[in-house]
Amino acid sequence: MNVCPLCNGLRQITVYCSYCRQPMEDQGKITDYFDDYSPYMDGDLMKLVDGYPYTYTNHECVHLFYCPHCQEEEVRFIKE
Ligand SMILES: [Zn+2]
Ligand SMILES: [Zn+2]
Repeated sequence: MNVCPLCNGLRQITVYCSYCRQPMEDQGKITDYFDDYSPYMDGDLMKLVDGYPYTYTNHECVHLFYCPHCQEEEVRFIKE
């Protein structure tokens, strides 16, 4: 079974902003922002609707990162 190291706190992954190269803050997985219509779906099903068709087959967790320096948000694929 594949688990996302960030969601499960297994290890720290530092993501750097592509604009200023400063470390970004993990805002959690992007499917958490779809709460309005997600409560009856499990994690794997959510991946089918997160808008990224290959995250399910590639075992990637889509996270949203925020750069406090640029105040930019960026999506990164975390390998599970
Ligand atoms: Zn995750
Ligand atoms: Zn930045």
